[in-house]
Amino acid sequence: MKFTSASLLLAALAVAACDSKTATMGESAASSATVEAVTTVPAVAGTSGTRATSTDEANATPAPAPTSIPASKAGDAAAILARPQVPILCYHQIRDWTARDSKNAKDYITPIATFKGHIKMLADSGYHTISPDQLYAYMTTGAKLPSKPIMLTFDDTDLDQFTIARPELDKYGFKAMYFVMTVSLGRPHYMTKAMVKQLSDEGNIIGSHTWDHHNVKKYQGKDWETQIDKPTKTLEEITGKKINYFAYPFGLWNEQAFPELKKRGFVAAFSLAEKRDQNDPLFTIRRIIASGYWTPRTLHNSIVQSF
Ligand SMILES: [Zn+2]
Repeated sequence: MKFTSASLLLAALAVAACDSKTATMGESAASSATVEAVTTVPAVAGTSGTRATSTDEANATPAPAPTSIPASKAGDAAAILARPQVPILCYHQIRDWTARDSKNAKDYITPIATFKGHIKMLADSGYHTISPDQLYAYMTTGAKLPSKPIMLTFDDTDLDQFTIARPELDKYGFKAMYFVMTVSLGRPHYMTKAMVKQLSDEGNIIGSHTWDHHNVKKYQGKDWETQIDKPTKTLEEITGKKINYFAYPFGLWNEQAFPELKKRGFVAAFSLAEKRDQNDPLFTIRRIIASGYWTPRTLHNSIVQSF
């Protein structure tokens, strides 16, 4: 596979971010070192209890739009933090490894057979994918979820998310959330605007992931316009829908970002495996990177241990 200079830069940045977080990610670290430690739990299917309030009837109930939930009905931070977390997985590239892929990059590159194994394991284990609107309603009001809820998220606009992941999810009736970085739209190895529109039309949710993946903690002045306002407007034009959710590049955030995101209409934002902010858990929703090194069993153990 050929890489553009932009994608090489992003890969380097992603690896740097991964390195910087290894020390704080603890049990949910997406490093190969942790893989061995969690491969010894015996059964995969049926070993995980339902971790969030759930009913199977909730499968058929569409979630209310987040903006239709009045602030007076939404719980405070303590109420949100007290509810069990829904597992959320984060994928990047879905393709087979090449000799040029570094050891660290392979956490972000899930080989095709590995990915298929992950998704089949989720289906065989009885997981149901939920939308971010369902997650939001659950977190803020305790709304019911399907049994064994899980959210699948895909970051950075890679083409294989459309060509490989999408048909695989379709086999099981799974939906996902795609966090799109707009600078890449239409470039080689990335999705086109038409693909993003199709994903949205098919019931997946599109989220904002900046223009070109700069670290939110460093924004000042016009950066908010360049990285957040314009790309989000682009995504709203592509999908014809309001964009309500944001994912921090590299999972990096600070408190100063919350009011900036809120005043732009976002209702929640997704980070990676570190602890949630105690005052603003909706803007630090945790995800784990489903490492390319992980077998289905390792993934299952990580889901159970990390949320
Ligand atoms: Zn990203």
